[in-house]
Amino acid sequence: MEEIIIGCHVSYTKDSGLVGSVKEALSYGANTFMFYTGAPQNTFRTPVNLENLKQAYQLMKENNIDINNVVIHAPYIVNLANNKEPEKWDFAIKFLKEEISRSQVFGVNKIVLHPGSHVGLGTEVAIQNIADALNIILKGEGPSILLETMAGKGSEVGKTFEEIRAIMDKVENKQRIKVCLDTCHINDAGYDVKNFDKVLEEFDKVIGLDKLACLHINDSKNDLESHKDRHENLGLGHLGFDTLIKVIYHPKLKKVPKILETPYVSENNDSKKRLYPPYKFEIAMIKNKKMNDNLISDIRNYYK
Ligand code: FE
Ligand code: FE
Ligand code: ZN
Repeated sequence: MEEIIIGCHVSYTKDSGLVGSVKEALSYGANTFMFYTGAPQNTFRTPVNLENLKQAYQLMKENNIDINNVVIHAPYIVNLANNKEPEKWDFAIKFLKEEISRSQVFGVNKIVLHPGSHVGLGTEVAIQNIADALNIILKGEGPSILLETMAGKGSEVGKTFEEIRAIMDKVENKQRIKVCLDTCHINDAGYDVKNFDKVLEEFDKVIGLDKLACLHINDSKNDLESHKDRHENLGLGHLGFDTLIKVIYHPKLKKVPKILETPYVSENNDSKKRLYPPYKFEIAMIKNKKMNDNLISDIRNYYK
């Protein structure tokens, strides 16, 4: 079987720690994973439990999970682009410095970051703010920050490869600034993922393929250039299964970890109460390279 590095977003809680995250990833048949070091929508964080960490490393070793493929996602409320309120901008910088220290405790060397939203300041000013912040944050050696390509919802910066490149050009610590490409986001931003070779060529020309350190694999609920950012389960959106399989198995991206962030599935079409993770079934489809036409009902039947 072809070796692919495939995983998904998993939870991390203060009680089950990284052991819980690794177990969750393994339960889906994943060989890597991505987690938030606390709630994605806030910046409250608890210290890492070192005994738990030791156990997690043992579990990863036993199951061939390479920590170099594991990814931390910074909370999405951190906005380096907007410095209208200096205290908030300073707090975002302080938080990211701490996030880097936490990543080092975990031994994780990839931190995905949304570049931010300019909220009226304009893209050019925002790009400078982001770079200024990163130049404070990225001193010496340590984990890399992966700027994520964005859908261009609201005033998001990073909706084109050129905007990402413009930030990178201003960052002094070149070896610690990389990129995470999200298939849903670039579709919504206007890149035709169905013509993926062309998109990758464009990425290489503008940013450089050597900078691509993570892929977020998501289908999209919306059309090309919709600027919506609504993820869909694999094969059920605008991109479709064959397109995503082409991305996942692309020969130039073999070493790049691929992370699913597709939506949880509701108990039935009306219920919003119970939600089930789709990843076990999506990863199975990916490994088989075959769409499961009963994806949603299989997920519901398995977890109910
Ligand atoms: Fe993200
Ligand atoms: Fe993403
Ligand atoms: Zn998204």
